[in-house]
Amino acid sequence: NQKSHKIPDLNKINICVRKRPLFHKEAVKGEIDIISCVNPAILVHKRKLKVDGTTSIENCGFEFDNTFNQNETSDSLYYSSIQPQIDFLFNGGIVTCFAYGQTGSGKTFTMEGVQKLVVNDFFAGAKIMKEETQKRFTFTVTYYEIYNGKVFDLFDRHKEKKVLESKDKKIKIPGLKEVQARTAEEMIQLIEYGLSERQTKKTVCNDTSSRSHAVGTISIKQVNKKNQVIADSGKLLLVDLAGSENAQASQDNSKIRRSEGAEINTSLLSLKECIRAMDQGKKHIPFRRSKLTMVLRDSFISGKKKSHVIMIACISPDGSSSEHTCNTLRYAERLK
Ligand code: ADP
Ligand code: MG
Repeated sequence: NQKSHKIPDLNKINICVRKRPLFHKEAVKGEIDIISCVNPAILVHKRKLKVDGTTSIENCGFEFDNTFNQNETSDSLYYSSIQPQIDFLFNGGIVTCFAYGQTGSGKTFTMEGVQKLVVNDFFAGAKIMKEETQKRFTFTVTYYEIYNGKVFDLFDRHKEKKVLESKDKKIKIPGLKEVQARTAEEMIQLIEYGLSERQTKKTVCNDTSSRSHAVGTISIKQVNKKNQVIADSGKLLLVDLAGSENAQASQDNSKIRRSEGAEINTSLLSLKECIRAMDQGKKHIPFRRSKLTMVLRDSFISGKKKSHVIMIACISPDGSSSEHTCNTLRYAERLK
């Protein structure tokens, strides 16, 4: 019985929260759902242990542009956040959609859920544009991971790629595989291939996927009748961020985990700073502080030809996650 989700001001950062359901395996362990989600509010009922051994409940409340409860589909999130940006994208805009949250909170699930819808809208949009304006469009996809400050191409056997800044202050990743998708099916296959590459690595290399940021980019390009690119149009970036719990220092962490953690911490903090600076219309964006914000430089353009940002904070409902959940919600809150 949710109030329908409103479409927020496209020129401001759009911050939403998505709560996943409590799993059966969590319930049998005695976990309970401690989150109430009534759009646009979200309330965490945190159990606190008192000195005398009894517990009390502390409530933390937040409000965002939209909140999605455990019964809502990826579709409703898509229709109120990404779909309203399709026109902007065809007109040269850059839209970046981040999924933030602890491991297991639904970041990848959400990204996968919106991908197919995006792809279909892109190809439908191109068809309409051709009929109405005679303009032709084509799409290309890149997909890479940023792990410990390094870029690995998911379309090129995880090869490391360098990030360079050109004289005209553009950020480039030379040699990054950019693949053209001629049909919606082809594009979905490409994205699924990238995702499967992430998963393969997950089992081979001791799950680095929760400690890496994955960046999938779909670029829209205007082409002539010979299919030659005549203008770069917009691009949509879908960023599945590293599990935010990795950013917190833990006592029993090995040296390598601590350095990874420090790197993740720096990147998530600089991401927050860049988004805030952009949203406040500042000229100076501190994007050089991490590899993540460096490669995403175009995502933070403020001013005339603006970039738009969508932040999806993903949260788990169980009581054991309450600290991480509150950290995630506070992070999202500070972006406002
Ligand atoms: P993350 O990428 O944040 O680590 P995942 O997206 O892998 O988390 O989600 C963890 C598990 O929870 C997966 O098995 C996923 O299918 C499931 N899940 C996540 N969100 C939802 C949801 N909204 N509804 C149903 N299942 C979900
Ligand atoms: Mg994931």
